[in-house]
Amino acid sequence: MFKAELIDQVARFRRSEGDPARALTSCPALVLNADFTPLSYYPLSLWPWQTAIKAVFLERVDIVASYDREVHSPTLDMKVPSVIALRQYVRPSEFPAFTRFNVFLRDRFACQYCGSPHHLTFDHVVPRRLGGKTTWENVATACAPCNMKKGGRTPAQARMPLAVEPIRPTSWQLQERGRRFPPNHLHETWRDWLYWDVELDT
Ligand SMILES: [Zn+2]
Repeated sequence: MFKAELIDQVARFRRSEGDPARALTSCPALVLNADFTPLSYYPLSLWPWQTAIKAVFLERVDIVASYDREVHSPTLDMKVPSVIALRQYVRPSEFPAFTRFNVFLRDRFACQYCGSPHHLTFDHVVPRRLGGKTTWENVATACAPCNMKKGGRTPAQARMPLAVEPIRPTSWQLQERGRRFPPNHLHETWRDWLYWDVELDT
């Protein structure tokens, strides 16, 4: 049975030997769908350890891998899950969230006017004062100098053609795009479940 005290009380935990400084709060669980693909890439589906343990006891997920550290209650010791898989398949959403990170990712972290990877900002292709909306189709990554130069004009008015017309990407398109841009922190037990082409530091 689920031990409520496990998550409701202040949890003590054994500090893992190799990594004593890390706090339990930095032990999120990677959440996989029932087909063992990540529930979401952007943002990466991560649950706080409390949520993960609760889901384990509610039998909604299975533990795939665990951290070294444990949580304790008076009646139970348990390793903190690092990877969990849903028992019931959830249909992934077709479109990713409209976030700053995802717009940068769609645009490969490069200015859509000159290609620069530096000082990136967001440009309203059709300026807001001309009725331009803040949408996938009207926001493009632009470096600060290009953004300034373009000012309140359309690309045609400014004679600054876009490299690519902005689109609303599908989750799949963004995932493909994202292979070269993994998040900064990936726990080693997550690697087998993610498809970022990256060599992680050890
Ligand atoms: Zn630029």
